[in-house]
Amino acid sequence: MEITELQQWGVGKTNPLIIAGPCSAETEEQLYETVKAIKEQGVTLMRAGVWKPRTRPNTFEGIGQEALQWIQDIKKELNIQFSVEVANAMHVEEALHYGIDVLWVGARSTVSPFIVQEIADALRGCDVPVLVKNPINPDLALWMGALERLYQAGVKKIGAIHRGFSTYQKSRYRNVPMWQLPIEMKRQLPGLPMICDPSHIMGKREDVAEICQIAMDLSFEGLIIETHRDPENAWSDARQQITPQTLGEIIRNLHIRQASSEDIEYITHLEELRTQIDHSDREMVELLAHRLDLVAQIGVWKKKNNVAAFQLDRWNRVFEARKDWAKNANLRERFIVDLFNLLHVESIRKQTEVMEADESETESGLRVES
Ligand code: PEP
Ligand code: MN
Repeated sequence: MEITELQQWGVGKTNPLIIAGPCSAETEEQLYETVKAIKEQGVTLMRAGVWKPRTRPNTFEGIGQEALQWIQDIKKELNIQFSVEVANAMHVEEALHYGIDVLWVGARSTVSPFIVQEIADALRGCDVPVLVKNPINPDLALWMGALERLYQAGVKKIGAIHRGFSTYQKSRYRNVPMWQLPIEMKRQLPGLPMICDPSHIMGKREDVAEICQIAMDLSFEGLIIETHRDPENAWSDARQQITPQTLGEIIRNLHIRQASSEDIEYITHLEELRTQIDHSDREMVELLAHRLDLVAQIGVWKKKNNVAAFQLDRWNRVFEARKDWAKNANLRERFIVDLFNLLHVESIRKQTEVMEADESETESGLRVES
């Protein structure tokens, strides 16, 4: 894909790109006051939901077309740019008619190839930038597929918004970030601008700043932050919106890391550390091979004595001991549990493979070549 560089999109003047504005356009006054205060913080690309995909019915579902007229008037008066969510061909048509500068596809639309295709078809021949939020479920192919549909319709100014993934498990996040997914997306499409949506990831205004900084540390190209002049009384997502003043503080406190450095001392030390990591990874691989070889030997021994491959009590003891060792070594318990679970699955596979091997094996477990 030959995606147009973010700098060539002609939107937003900040680096990183900051998009801010209310979850929803509520009244003309609310929108005007909010974006005026946001502009005073140096942000020029706004957001506002005009059609709102609400989880439950009988909640505020957006103002619709009337809000597009407010946006058009405010854009002219304050000399700013606007982005809105579109979820069907009619939204695209109306948004373009009212001169919206950037469109985004919401998380609930990205999951539906029919909807995404409809939006892509409506955008044929248009030059408007489009951002695609990740689908609500952690499915990289679905996210990628939505970007491909737009690209194939001729939209070259495309970017992704990482807004976290829905989970049924109890979590401190509204949508768990699973940072490995946007990182993998960037690995597969290096030219793709990646914008972080800390508001929908966190769901709580207190922790928005923390997520913004993580996104900067991971070299994201931008942030989209829900901002409202009176967050507590917002008509949607009241818990996660911040004031324009807080937005300004967050932006000013961001540590923007360089993508890389030419400094010779930096490069030399980085190379030293990377060499050590290579050594340690090689040792780990050799140790894993050794461990699995011991497992295979146990398999042969159990087979000879007609004992089952898996013994629950031994496994429980193994697990407890590893957790203690991990604690003493200052490793996170969750990490060690996940790692040993993986190792356990492979060990069982290895042992059953050895035990099921046909009878042409010698007593030591080695296959006799015929
Ligand atoms: C939004 O940006 O207000 C929104 C509805 O977000 P998402 O599609 O990420 O849920
Ligand atoms: Mn919202």
